[in-house]
Amino acid sequence: MPLTCPYCGEPIDSFVDPGGGELQEYIEDCAVCCRPIQFRARWREDWNDYQLVACAEDE
Ligand SMILES: [Zn+2]
Repeated sequence: MPLTCPYCGEPIDSFVDPGGGELQEYIEDCAVCCRPIQFRARWREDWNDYQLVACAEDE
């Protein structure tokens, strides 16, 4: 499931630090439009991977 920037709509990629726990929130600037994207990551046992949501910081 590709993530897209909530501001410019470009595809974005982010890697979750597995040492950070099952629930994480962090902000990374979009590589295209440089606006701050808030990421929310939640560990999914059934996926064996993180579920990652990207949203606008000021939402
Ligand atoms: Zn962007």
